Amino acid sequence: MEDKAPWTRSLIARIRQERPVLLVALLIALIALAAGANKWVVLGLLLLMIITALWHTVPAALPKVQLEPVPETIEAPGNRLAEVAATLAALDIPVMVLSGDASVLYQNRAAEKAFGEAAIGAHISARLRSPGILDMVSETIATNAPNQIEHFERLPSERVYIVRSAPVEFDEQQPADERFFVLSFRDISEVRRIDRMRSDFVANASHELRTPLASLRGFIETIQGPAKNDGKAQERFLGIMLDQATRMSRLVDDLLSLSRLELKSHIAPDQKVDLVPLLGHVRDSLAPLANDVGVEIVLHLPLGKAEVLGDRDELVQVFENLMENACKYGQEGKTVDVFLKNAPGEPVEVTVVDKGPGIPAEHVPRLTERFYRVSIEDSRSKKGTGLGLAIVKHILTRHRARLIVKSEVGKGTSFTVRF
Ligand code: ADP
Repeated sequence: MEDKAPWTRSLIARIRQERPVLLVALLIALIALAAGANKWVVLGLLLLMIITALWHTVPAALPKVQLEPVPETIEAPGNRLAEVAATLAALDIPVMVLSGDASVLYQNRAAEKAFGEAAIGAHISARLRSPGILDMVSETIATNAPNQIEHFERLPSERVYIVRSAPVEFDEQQPADERFFVLSFRDISEVRRIDRMRSDFVANASHELRTPLASLRGFIETIQGPAKNDGKAQERFLGIMLDQATRMSRLVDDLLSLSRLELKSHIAPDQKVDLVPLLGHVRDSLAPLANDVGVEIVLHLPLGKAEVLGDRDELVQVFENLMENACKYGQEGKTVDVFLKNAPGEPVEVTVVDKGPGIPAEHVPRLTERFYRVSIEDSRSKKGTGLGLAIVKHILTRHRARLIVKSEVGKGTSFTVRF
């Protein structure tokens, strides 16, 4: 059907439509022939009836059949730009429409926001000074083929765009002075930032794993060589090796936790979790650690329940991390206080307060970054991985909850989770 000429398709459609009339005409002709009428006269009359039937249906059939709807804009060149512009106005990426001599005929609101307002009809070079973009536009106009380049903007903020120029194809017989070109800007700054974060993360994770691994290898070589017959040294080295292996497995566990959390970050949890027994459970599970570091965890809980929508295991992980940090970095002989607030009409809040050395203000905004530590040595000596608060942040984001950190050097730190 596709490759038949339009007039053939309309004729077929019309014949189908006039089928009853044509059949009646044929029947009358046959009856006339059977009655002994002259065959030439009958044939002539039949032909006349067919032509009349089809002829009369021509103007009426076309709009009804609508085989090839022809949009008005294609006939009227002036409307083409309006048609393109109306579509581009709805896009949230910056787009400009250029004429065949590279003047800007239209720019959408996103382009106005990114590159400022400018007089319509001005040459593209009055708006964009990048030689790369201007060369690309000239080439697209000359060859009528799409092109794209990567473009960096330093001001007002650093941004990276994929800029693409492409001809707008209406039909093949488009006159040269009615050609349009679309220049679009896809902002990939965020994608680049995430790429950089990922590669930093892989580098950091490999580095963190390589350190204990190198230490393990060193001790194995020593036990095989110089300490081959030294039972006492071997025992000591095996103890250190166990510590290093445990550190590696903690790190791998934390990395797996983070990647699992990333996978489900967009799904909000929907269980009802009562924080009162949950905090009691976390306190009990951390009692041995608190004992080791000489700190006491004191819970300040309201009467009754304090329910939030959440994932129980993940919330246990949040409060375990916060209370464990408070014990590890808090001061020996002092208490770690945990307050649960559940006032009517106010958000449920849990605050973990320690009386440790505090965190200097410049570090506070970066604490939830992966592997960020105020002191690497301090964190390592306390069996830290540098991932605890990153995990906390991920879980809280999924729970639509906030983490508020307040710290005063010399006095202590408080971490508040607000649901
Ligand atoms: P780590 O495994 O090193 O404890 P976290 O992500 O849990 O990693 O914490 C990041 C860093 O934040 C820690 O290395 C430490 O420097 C600092 N920090 C976290 N909690 C406290 C706290 N309660 N008091 C002082 N510093 C803290």
